Amino acid sequence: MKKIKIKIAQLGYIPFPISHKRITKWKSDLFDIDTTVDQYTFQMDSDIEFSGYSDHTLEKELPVQTNFDFLITITNVPLQDDFYARRLSHNRIVISLREVSDILRKENINFENYIIRNIYRYLFVYLMYGNRIPLMSEKTNFTHDDTRGCIFDFNSNKSELIYSLDKPHICPECKNKMNGKAHEKVPEYIVVKAEKEIKKIKKDVYIKLMDFVKQNPLLSIIITFLTGIFMSLLSSFLYDILKIYLLKF
Ligand SMILES: [Zn+2]
Repeated sequence: MKKIKIKIAQLGYIPFPISHKRITKWKSDLFDIDTTVDQYTFQMDSDIEFSGYSDHTLEKELPVQTNFDFLITITNVPLQDDFYARRLSHNRIVISLREVSDILRKENINFENYIIRNIYRYLFVYLMYGNRIPLMSEKTNFTHDDTRGCIFDFNSNKSELIYSLDKPHICPECKNKMNGKAHEKVPEYIVVKAEKEIKKIKKDVYIKLMDFVKQNPLLSIIITFLTGIFMSLLSSFLYDILKIYLLKF
């Protein structure tokens, strides 16, 4: 399969740092992300409650891309029906950080993991629906309502997004769906490759350490204490060795 070409854009101001580089530099055998992130400002006022934007207005805010297979646009405004992602015409997807950013911050999950997880999700949607992103009005069946830590979790409760943002997987039912019965068949090697790659969507090591300390405070104190004793014994042993060595000369 030829690598899928993906463009990333940002729509509107995002009041916290998000590393575009971390997203565009993501290495994949399945897709290439353009290194330039296009920035767009809102030209129209919000048209739904809580200063949100409907699909109808977003359609007009974003240009149609012709050089890429699909466009992922990051924004921070509420989207229609309180979804975190909306599919627009011409293979354009809008992903919002509204509410999600607080959930991720609380769990020490990178915002970029959220975007990359969704890139894999929409890569499969694109392949399953015949190299196109289906509109929201189309009947689709690529998600499941229960949360399984799978990239196809529906996540009506946004706080459950966290389960598919640290080493997510593709659940057996979703793998079965890709056999072509309901839509286009996705070659097995693509699923295998994607599964390998999405395992790299994970929390940073120091965050994992912080989580461990939070979950096991007593054990962490004991480990710190024993490490301190071990280090002091080791340094005194090394000092004695060095002293003996220096006295010889
Ligand atoms: Zn699944």
